[in-house]
Amino acid sequence: MRVAIYARHSTDKQEHSTRDQIARCEAFCRRVGYEIAATFSDEGISGAAMQNRPGIRKLIEAALDGEFNRIISEDLSRISRDQGDLAHFYKKLLFLNINLETIAEGDVSELHIGLKGTMNALYLKDLADKTKRGMLAAVLNGSIPGGRTFGYDIVHRLNERGEPIPGLRKINPVEAEIVRTIFTRYDQGETLLRICEHLNDNGVAAPKGGTKWQKSALIGTFARQTGILRNTLYKGVLTFDKMAYRKHPETGKRVSMIRPEHDWIRVPAPELAILSEDQFDSVQRHIEERSNNFRQRRLIVQVMTGEEKAKRQRGYVRKWRARQKTANKVPEQPFYITSGKLWCSKHDAAFIHRRAKLNGCPHKGCPNQNLPLEYILPLVLEDVQKFSAGDLDAYYQENKSRRAFLESKLQSLISERSRVQSEIRALLETIVRSQRGPETLSHIQEREKESGRLKLDIEQAKSELENITAVPDADMKMIARRVQETINKWLASDLDSTKVLHDCVYKISIIPFWNDAEQSMQHRAKVAWDMPALIRAFSVAANKIAA
Ligand SMILES: [Zn+2]
Repeated sequence: MRVAIYARHSTDKQEHSTRDQIARCEAFCRRVGYEIAATFSDEGISGAAMQNRPGIRKLIEAALDGEFNRIISEDLSRISRDQGDLAHFYKKLLFLNINLETIAEGDVSELHIGLKGTMNALYLKDLADKTKRGMLAAVLNGSIPGGRTFGYDIVHRLNERGEPIPGLRKINPVEAEIVRTIFTRYDQGETLLRICEHLNDNGVAAPKGGTKWQKSALIGTFARQTGILRNTLYKGVLTFDKMAYRKHPETGKRVSMIRPEHDWIRVPAPELAILSEDQFDSVQRHIEERSNNFRQRRLIVQVMTGEEKAKRQRGYVRKWRARQKTANKVPEQPFYITSGKLWCSKHDAAFIHRRAKLNGCPHKGCPNQNLPLEYILPLVLEDVQKFSAGDLDAYYQENKSRRAFLESKLQSLISERSRVQSEIRALLETIVRSQRGPETLSHIQEREKESGRLKLDIEQAKSELENITAVPDADMKMIARRVQETINKWLASDLDSTKVLHDCVYKISIIPFWNDAEQSMQHRAKVAWDMPALIRAFSVAANKIAA
């Protein structure tokens, strides 16, 4: 579920700031597992006028682009305090198939929007149902909506009034044989490309006047369930009403949208079956399997960060080298502190290995493109020696105090929440013992809301805490001294020290700059230390390193 967050803050002191609202919504999304696609907000704008809000305008534009399918806000009054505007906005969302959910009201339905909106929406639904019924009647009379389908001929026949009956079909035996070939080959595991080649090599005419068979004709698209391999008519079931046509609220043009699958209409048409149901269903399972594998591979790449991609790339290179090693007995590359850590500061990209001892940025024309290792190593050497005990200590203090602050905040939020909850329990008992109903109930509701807000704040603090790596207690002066000793050993070409330091480096940025005095492009290196790793390595494994 991809969602957009919307927040609005007028100058009203009673309201939470947009930052607070967004943080609450983010925590809410994390809790229920929504993926946040975008965040929109309006600052210092009242809830009455909707036209002059840049935030809401951007939200609608993004909604039209289909960037998300749900909007999250703190409560309905953040969207608008004007009933008419609210109804208008809600209708737009209805058209776009986007849900509106608020932390206060939950899923927003027509009932929240007001009576007038409800009646309009019900009227529209009724109209759509009527159209659907008309279409269904035609299908049951033997017509097939839509154009020509591969495997069938159109039958021209007149009705009792002498008018042509649209949509009548019969099986075309030649094309039906091709459909069977396609299904059989796919079922046996042949690739779409191979099947197309087979058909083209045998001079089989492509459907819909195409010159050659294409993969898309066979598989179509997943969302619309098009393509020969997915057409249920071949097993004798006519599926229609997959698309909904609606008027676009912004432009007034007619647009097609895909309906949810459970709204599609399926009518048996056994006289048009070309395949057995078993064969058709078996092919559907194969499509599902194959596209799942494909989608997963693609999704993994999509969610990877630049560094993870670079790591994956390095993994490929490593595997390739391992294969080469067993095949050709190529000697292993020597190990340096820079191995796999070099980074182009200009393009924010990992270096790639070009030729022996030649590294560089993958971007064309980059001043970091081809750098020999003999050139890079002295630059790195220079910066490693700038390792600062002060920086290490500052990091350590900041890490400790930030974590301590968040931990105590978390504790107080938790105890605050348990206090509110025992208050709720006490109020409930009051209701049972005395009969003071309505007044107490509204107290309870308020407490419940407060408890919910506290829960979100707790989640927020927890996730902030998770983002700060815990480091062990240690004497930073001692650690700085040990790091310095290891650097000295490394300078004396000690391989063990190289490995230890290498694992404490986050990345090494190579920064190109123009030297005006010498009129030439030059470089310097900046080592980013992985401080948590460094503190851990030099405090836990202290004995090993000192020895
Ligand atoms: Zn670059």
